[in-house]
Amino acid sequence: MSKAAVIGKPIGHSLSPAIFTFLSHEQNFQYSSQEVDATELPQFIQNFRNDSEMVGLNVTIPHKELVIDHLDELSPEVRVTGASNVIHKSQGKLTGYNTDICGILMTLKNHHKGSLSGKRAWVLGAGGAARAVLYALGELKLGQVDVVNRTAERSLKLVKQMKQFFPSTEWRAVSGSDETGKDASIYFEPGDSFSLIINATPLGMSADLLKRDAFYSIPLFIRVFTAMETSKISDEETSAEQKKTGFRIEKGAVAFDLIYRPENTPFLNIAKQYGLIPVGGLEMLVEQALAAWKIWFGPVPNMDAQKTPLLNFLRNRPIFLTGFMGAGKSTVGKILSQRLSRDFLDLDRVIEAKENKTIGQIFEEKGEAVFREIEFKEFKKYFLSPNTVLALGGGTLLNPQIRSLILKVGTLIYLRTKPETIAKRIKSQNQVRPLLTSLGDLEQEAKIETLLKERESFYLQAQVQVDTDTLTPEEISDQISERLVY
Ligand code: NAP
Repeated sequence: MSKAAVIGKPIGHSLSPAIFTFLSHEQNFQYSSQEVDATELPQFIQNFRNDSEMVGLNVTIPHKELVIDHLDELSPEVRVTGASNVIHKSQGKLTGYNTDICGILMTLKNHHKGSLSGKRAWVLGAGGAARAVLYALGELKLGQVDVVNRTAERSLKLVKQMKQFFPSTEWRAVSGSDETGKDASIYFEPGDSFSLIINATPLGMSADLLKRDAFYSIPLFIRVFTAMETSKISDEETSAEQKKTGFRIEKGAVAFDLIYRPENTPFLNIAKQYGLIPVGGLEMLVEQALAAWKIWFGPVPNMDAQKTPLLNFLRNRPIFLTGFMGAGKSTVGKILSQRLSRDFLDLDRVIEAKENKTIGQIFEEKGEAVFREIEFKEFKKYFLSPNTVLALGGGTLLNPQIRSLILKVGTLIYLRTKPETIAKRIKSQNQVRPLLTSLGDLEQEAKIETLLKERESFYLQAQVQVDTDTLTPEEISDQISERLVY
């Protein structure tokens, strides 16, 4: 068994567990995410060194820079950028890589037609991700790169460093004190044209910034986009005179936002209005992950063929419904899947079809332990299906491997129901429930309560929880749809 993990703080939002679980399906590989505080980092790296099964780490905020002090060797990219997002352990040595750069280069190659050599770009931000962006642009030999940042010292420092490593590119730090953006000349000089604008800030990540108005209230972008608006000339009106006074967005120019959640950011929406080709950060995330996989395990045949299915999976990660028997998982699952235009799968029905027996018969003839084995086998066939709603059985989460896989790849929803409601529903449904057969009303209620107590801690790991007792299946589906965050 080989193992890898992503470390950072916070880490709950990371898509790396979903990506690497998707890539390693059916292989002898285990991927986990671990929240590591800066103070715990030295000990964590020591443990990583000592764990013979661990081959690699993905490193995210805030450790990309800190981790370097604990490594034995650094790739040239890490030496220049001072940031490492991938560590590989080989023959006891830890080497730091920066695959964000590869992710950026691949994404630009996929979307900008023709060479970027000699062209002009803007980069918004001067943090860790911007460093990888600048390295990639230096490699591509851009003619001029303007780094626009809120804190001037940071962009100045970065630009100074890049001048040293990539002298053929003209690097400029632009801070611009005019918050209203009236002074467009800060950004544009007569006759300017550009091919690329990259957002390497987290602006646009939170939901309240999704409205264009709210977005415009952010000073940095007010300055940049107002500058664009006042200086822009369109192709039709480009006379020789205007070419001298306005600026031009080149045909095929790309607007690349490193943010991957949400994929469609306000920055990209505005850029679209200027005719730029919008590119979100998800592709970069996938490319940098594939590059990490290659570092850990060497070139993998057909790796490139995984890109499109992986992107599709990340955009439509599965939804799992859990809850006690009678909680309404099947009914709600059907309604929810229609509402979200997803496929619906009911794990119990899948098992019944496969075994050609009812769940009751399987329990009776083979016992619960065998049933759980069959359940796990069937679960593994479907848990990586994109665009699905999968209703689990009431006891599916008893399996720790299933719990772990679900929390890595998708969204778990708990339909919470009181024991007395469950008892009433089960009675009215008149269905065979293997764990409750041949029990009187009172014994049945007591058994429901006991089983619920055993299982509830697993159900409560769900990212979305809905109290179902007083709601119709439609109302439950409404609540879930409103609270889903992909
Ligand atoms: P970081 O090191 O914290 O840098 C953040 C940058 O954004 C800094 O330049 C900062 O300016 C600027 N900024 C932050 N808040 C601002 C505000 N309110 N107004 C103006 N400027 C602001 O973060 P990072 O690691 O570079 O990450 C930046 C983004 O890239 C994040 O959204 C991250 O998710 C994304 N990213 C994506 C990928 C991918 O694979 N797609 C990979 C890495 C990162 P100051 O210098 O003035 O503070």
